[in-house]
Amino acid sequence: MEIQLYNTLTRNKETFKPLKQGEVSIYNCGPTVYDTPHIGNYRTFIMNDLIRRVFEYNDYKVDQVMNITDVDDKTIRRSREEKIPLKELTLKYEKLFIEESEKLNLKRPDHLIRATEYIPAMIELVGTLLANGIAYKASDGVYVNIEKVKDYGTLAKLDLSHDSHERIANDEYDKENARDFAVWKFKTPDDGDVSWDTPFGAGRPGWHIECSAMAMNVLGPTIDIHTGGIDLIFPHHTNEIAQSESATGQPFVHYWLHGAFMTVSDEKMAKSKKNFLKLGDLLDETISPLAYRYWLLTAHYRSPVNFTFEAVRAAQTALIRLLQLVGTYPEGGKIDSSYKNRFQEFINDDLDVPQAIALAWELVKDSNVSEPDKRATLIDFDKVFGLKLDSAPRIEEEKIPEEIVALAEAREEARQTKDWKKADALRHEIESRGFTIKDETTGFKLRSS
Ligand code: AMP
Ligand code: ZN
Repeated sequence: MEIQLYNTLTRNKETFKPLKQGEVSIYNCGPTVYDTPHIGNYRTFIMNDLIRRVFEYNDYKVDQVMNITDVDDKTIRRSREEKIPLKELTLKYEKLFIEESEKLNLKRPDHLIRATEYIPAMIELVGTLLANGIAYKASDGVYVNIEKVKDYGTLAKLDLSHDSHERIANDEYDKENARDFAVWKFKTPDDGDVSWDTPFGAGRPGWHIECSAMAMNVLGPTIDIHTGGIDLIFPHHTNEIAQSESATGQPFVHYWLHGAFMTVSDEKMAKSKKNFLKLGDLLDETISPLAYRYWLLTAHYRSPVNFTFEAVRAAQTALIRLLQLVGTYPEGGKIDSSYKNRFQEFINDDLDVPQAIALAWELVKDSNVSEPDKRATLIDFDKVFGLKLDSAPRIEEEKIPEEIVALAEAREEARQTKDWKKADALRHEIESRGFTIKDETTGFKLRSS
């Protein structure tokens, strides 16, 4: 079955065509390990995980790379503020990121790689850009001359008519200020000992060159899919394309996928606003990481979502109910092929996971599918959902003594003949023996009280 993906490059949904039949190469911009990720970051990482799972569900061999940004302006600034070596800071937050990713049941990428371990590849790439005249040396670093880059800014649909041809040393800047950007930053006193020697001067890589070098070093000059949050379209991904394509002369990425942002109380998350929530803050409110994951499955990755505790609590209630149901369904069933087909159609339609979740609930309510088959089908869906439905605790149906069942049947008969007095007496009899009886449309239900 075909997979459709919305490609930021063309602003269209396209049929996915892999570079190699049956295989998909994916590069995800990973965390900058200078602090605990906030729950907005995890929205993007959950999107990455869903993309991987959808391709696996379609029997693709996935080769997924995620980088760990362990050297950049932010990490260096923080290590200086905390007066600890850069490595000590970044290892601490990398470990935390891996632990939290496991709690969210994110599959580990095939290559989770640190920028500091790919410095030679970055130096080589900067060397190529200098050699072919795309980059030039300035007093504080090596810069890419965006005027020399073929089709600079297509991804972000930049209007370069007012280009002032200035330089920007910072990794982050806005779209209105497209300028020559740094691929190598010469050593400054603030960088401490974070520096590498190169033929073009000692210093450290810019953030953008890191991803270009790592992606191409592991996956080759052209890759199938590259992802990130929507904020990375400019300048980060725009500059990645510029550097990579100028160096290789080949298309860098076929499909660019970007996830929408999550806001809190309709505001951008910011430390100054105190709405900067971490997974730990959710746990303090007894919200599990998997409930947060479930909540995000109910929104499409390209739709902005607004976090409220109320919404996530409702998601947690729904997840618990689903786990309880799977827990009561007997094992030994088979996957319902009609539901599986519909499921695959949804997820292959640019990851329409919210529809797939709605389908799971439709299945639960469908009286034409047996309980064992429901279980088998839901556990199959969970290959994509990643909600650990197969670990739902088994809830054994209670064994009700035969004489109590006989009393309940007699009461049912009395009700059918409208002998309410007898029916009441039998109800009292059942209750006095420690059981409760509830009338449902499909008949009575007995429980020990
Ligand atoms: P960083 O660790 O800052 O490099 O960010 C990691 C990822 O999180 C990037 O792909 C960002 O685009 C993404 N991101 C940052 N803030 C949000 C947010 N509020 N909602 C969704 N994704 C976000
Ligand atoms: Zn990146």
